[in-house]
Amino acid sequence: MIPYGRQSISDADIEAVVSVLRSDFLTQGPQVPAFETAFSERVDAPFAVASNSATSALHLAYLALGVGPGDVVWTSPITFVATANAALYCGADVDFVDIDPRTYNLSSDALAQKLAEAERSGRLPKVVTPVHFAGQPCDMKAIAQLSQQYGFSVVEDASHAVGASYRDERVGHCGYSDITVFSFHPVKILTTAEGGLATTQQATLAERMALLRSHGVTRDPDQLDHPDEGGWYYEQQSLGFNYRMTDLQAALGVAQLQRLDRFIDARRKLAARYDDRLAELPLVLPWQHQDGRSSYHLYPVCLPKEIDRLHAYEQLRAAGIGVNVHYIPVPNQPYYQRSGFCPDDYPEAQRYYASALSLPLYADLSEADQDSVIDALTRILG
Ligand SMILES: *Cc1c(COP(=O)(O)O)cnc(C)c1O
Repeated sequence: MIPYGRQSISDADIEAVVSVLRSDFLTQGPQVPAFETAFSERVDAPFAVASNSATSALHLAYLALGVGPGDVVWTSPITFVATANAALYCGADVDFVDIDPRTYNLSSDALAQKLAEAERSGRLPKVVTPVHFAGQPCDMKAIAQLSQQYGFSVVEDASHAVGASYRDERVGHCGYSDITVFSFHPVKILTTAEGGLATTQQATLAERMALLRSHGVTRDPDQLDHPDEGGWYYEQQSLGFNYRMTDLQAALGVAQLQRLDRFIDARRKLAARYDDRLAELPLVLPWQHQDGRSSYHLYPVCLPKEIDRLHAYEQLRAAGIGVNVHYIPVPNQPYYQRSGFCPDDYPEAQRYYASALSLPLYADLSEADQDSVIDALTRILG
């Protein structure tokens, strides 16, 4: 089976992890800060806080921004459940803003309209979390302008967008947001097995996230109520978690980061090749806004109405093509429907979901394998 996504692991990656295994620290050693520094330099953000997943990074981001009971976090219905769940972990409520039918990203027009309504009913969001779906950056300029106007914070869920750029800035620079969160799950652009990271330009947010990542415990003399207790002394200043990344994971991250440009080049070339060779088929190919350069985590196509998606999915799977669907809209999930969400409130998300199929795309996908995807799809649509 050609999977829809998979990691690329080199000998250098393996050696990097093995050398940590032979070293003094498996966790809380030098590799995590080295990865944070390398990543923050890469995206041109002054602060980076690594964690054990993007889910925990989202949770830390929301907490650092003060999200709690009585607050509302808005995000896109076309995302992985974690984007919304992390707000529920804070005791906050969640709501969704429908997508743009071309980019499948949270629509800034729908956002503007929903904000105007929310202002009238006194229920403005504390945080809005645009998700750079498939690696294509959202309309961050408009979202940032609305955040100024209505006074909410912005967290970018860039789980798909490691290596993407927006208006000549790297995603993660946080020129249009407070915090940007990345995922290093093996299907994503680069991997630490499990892992996540948050970047920010604001020192206080970085400090809060770093504190909460490790039990709310600190040894920093400047943060201690009683700095003169002795060398053993630490204080718990908040209720935090164990959301730490290990040095094994961070070493893999440092090694992977050195190949990020190659990963992105390979994905963009393969995406361009799909664009070219699927152009004659009755498919909606992933449309790209000129303000962004996608990292192409996914290559989602939409099938024509005459084609039954389930049938196409099963035929492709039977032919060894591991197509997938990203995503079932979050408000469709039974858990969310039980708390009152109605899928029909997000018609663009439903329209997209009804016909979407993600084709295999990853850095090591060979052109021969890509050709077999193209051939199988051509047969089914022909
Ligand atoms: C993968 C993903 C997450 C969660 O990432 P983990 O590292 O697995 O916790 C969150 N949001 C989006 C959009 C994702 O694709």
